[in-house]
Amino acid sequence: MALSTYVLLQSRRRMTTMKLATPSMMTTIECRKCDFKSVREFQRGDYVFKELDKCQKCDDKMIITAISKEVKEKEKTFPF
Ligand SMILES: [Zn+2]
Repeated sequence: MALSTYVLLQSRRRMTTMKLATPSMMTTIECRKCDFKSVREFQRGDYVFKELDKCQKCDDKMIITAISKEVKEKEKTFPF
């Protein structure tokens, strides 16, 4: 009985650790003029509607349209 409780606690702790380690934030950048869209890793100071560098295609300014949490394939499958 004591052993099974121990195993249960161990596996629960492992799952909590994995949840904390995996999430990463992604920033979606769009050009309003030509609809060019790109996604990159979130960088400190990013916020929605922030103006960024010029668009690669039309030289208009690009803006951040979304900041989202990336869901990796690893998180969807059970780790055994
Ligand atoms: Zn553009």
